[in-house]
Amino acid sequence: MPAYHYPDTLDEACAMLADGEDTMVYGGGTAVQILVKQGVLFASDLIDIGRIRGLDEIRRTSAGLRTGPLVTLRQMETSPVVRELAPLAAEVYRHVANPRVRNTASVGGNLAHGDYRLDPPTALLVLDAKVELSSRRGRRSLPVREFFVDFQKTALEPGEMITAVEIPRQPASVGAHFVKYSSLSANDWPCASVAALIVDGSRNRRQVRLGLGALSHVPLFTQFDVPAGSVVEDVVRAAKDAAEPLIDPIPDVRGGSAYKKRLGLVAVEEAVRNSWKEGHDERRILLWRRR
Ligand SMILES: Cc1cc2nc3c(=O)[nH]c(=O)nc-3n(C[C@H](O)[C@H](O)[C@H](O)COP(=O)(O)OP(=O)(O)OC[C@H]3O[C@@H](n4cnc5c(N)ncnc54)[C@H](O)[C@@H]3O)c2cc1C
Repeated sequence: MPAYHYPDTLDEACAMLADGEDTMVYGGGTAVQILVKQGVLFASDLIDIGRIRGLDEIRRTSAGLRTGPLVTLRQMETSPVVRELAPLAAEVYRHVANPRVRNTASVGGNLAHGDYRLDPPTALLVLDAKVELSSRRGRRSLPVREFFVDFQKTALEPGEMITAVEIPRQPASVGAHFVKYSSLSANDWPCASVAALIVDGSRNRRQVRLGLGALSHVPLFTQFDVPAGSVVEDVVRAAKDAAEPLIDPIPDVRGGSAYKKRLGLVAVEEAVRNSWKEGHDERRILLWRRR
């Protein structure tokens, strides 16, 4: 069994991480505890960061909001600040697992877990969030778009821990929508999840941003532009064209690769169609359909 440590300050925690041999941060413990019980956690020491002040707070900033790594997924779902400034993020956190997991799992632990099926990165990718990483060497800020580097591998370097996630205010968007398909049960990990955010681009264009979960060995991001006057069918087609070459699902108990790819493209269509509809004149869509 690993030894638990309870630092009172960030400096203390960073020193423990730097000095330990197989030392890991303990967030909510929902992933770590399963590994401990299965006897497959090879950490000698766990640093429980729960005593460090300020790591469990959500704050407004001039650009949007800043959340500490120990904020729970449930807080992200229910916080009035998150709902106001980043409603897409609140919606996505609401879809993770079940209330028991969401009440315990943390924002930092979720990202550091590095699983390709995680839901929250889909929203953080399209919202262009940044993750703050701290160590004895200092602090750095990294776009979430650069955080997931390979299968179960993040940009966290030895001795580093997540100390905040910065989410810019959700742009005055045309629309935003999240779709999650699970094949075993409603609360299960996704078979495919897609967050879409459509924002005003330059020169009468719209920028369509897509975050894809469970559809490759890392969470995926892509974006493209369409004319503001496009009909929804053209936007859906462009979205599928952009997503399709990136999708390379890992077959498992939730479905084979071809099934997941098909489902992923259905999720892309649903997310984009609903986002586009949110901000567009329904009459134009009806006229197009009558053609
Ligand atoms: C039954 C079940 C269903 C689930 N379904 C979903 C789902 O549908 N969608 C989804 O997205 N997720 C799902 N999850 C995963 C869940 O979101 C993760 O278990 C959880 O987010 C991990 O957070 P935690 O705080 O409990 O992390 P912990 O278990 O504490 O830690 C996980 C990893 O992150 C590291 N870590 C923790 N905090 C930090 C930090 N601040 N800095 C650096 N490293 C850190 C730990 O060292 C460890 O490697 C599910 C989990 C369970 C148990």
